[in-house]
Amino acid sequence: MIPPARQKPVFRFAPSPNGRLHLGHALSALLNADMAKATGGRLLLRMEDIDIGRCTPEFERAIYDDLAWLGLTWEEPVRRQSEHLDDYRRALDRLIADGLAYPAFMTRGEVKARAAQSEAAGKAWPRDPDGAPHYPNDERYLAASIRQQRIAAGERHVWRLDMERAVASVNTALTWVETGDGQTGEIVADPRAWGDVVLWRSDAPSSYHLSVTVDDAVQGITHVVRGLDLFHATSVHRLLQTLLDLPAPSYRHHRLILGADGRKLSKSQGDTALLELRKAGRTSDAIRRLVGL
Ligand code: GLU
Repeated sequence: MIPPARQKPVFRFAPSPNGRLHLGHALSALLNADMAKATGGRLLLRMEDIDIGRCTPEFERAIYDDLAWLGLTWEEPVRRQSEHLDDYRRALDRLIADGLAYPAFMTRGEVKARAAQSEAAGKAWPRDPDGAPHYPNDERYLAASIRQQRIAAGERHVWRLDMERAVASVNTALTWVETGDGQTGEIVADPRAWGDVVLWRSDAPSSYHLSVTVDDAVQGITHVVRGLDLFHATSVHRLLQTLLDLPAPSYRHHRLILGADGRKLSKSQGDTALLELRKAGRTSDAIRRLVGL
């Protein structure tokens, strides 16, 4: 019998076109490209552009320029999230039908105020791995008729995952295989640390967690290589993959490139863009050395 052909590894680089790429992105993109080459795998590119208020076509074009300058090649067509909202909506509808998602009416400000009130009264309020207060759990139990009334009345809302119910509905241990620069081996996922995460927003449709999970499956990604800042988010992604019957890629969360002041580089803080380095005469080989490759 001929053994089935081994599936080619599939990697992806998934930037958000809401600013210029910096050295942290260069490390991510180059690592993905190097690993694809070393394993005879494929490299895909995905524009995470659902945040329509902040993403622009100019930033998207600049990303293609920067990546080409770094020497990367990727398969066409590029998947642009803004063109696939139906895919994310279908996933949301399934979670709603399974009773695992609910409309949440409180604003971020109201949640913060509720947490502060509790903390002022000496009662700790749970916070997620990024430090944001968990959503209060009272709206999980609103009667369906009240939810419908409030939605019909045009009340602004997002859709959140009912974390307790979602975790309870999964009867296998949630783990992932990690080969990155932090903890490695089989990691036990802890999605409850995030509370009732947002699945669908009112301003920018779909959420990072939902769209990244759906896209990694749609694109057949076998290896996710991204920064350590997303290590904990993987717990949510593993839960969503399990709830939606999607395959689990392996993960490599790489070290972050820090600025001179020791903090993580960020687009919004205007940290040195690749373009500036290019203009200053650095070569793409110099960028490889700068990011330690
Ligand atoms: N779009 C995310 C970012 O630019 C990366 C998402 C991911 O790699 O899962 O930070």
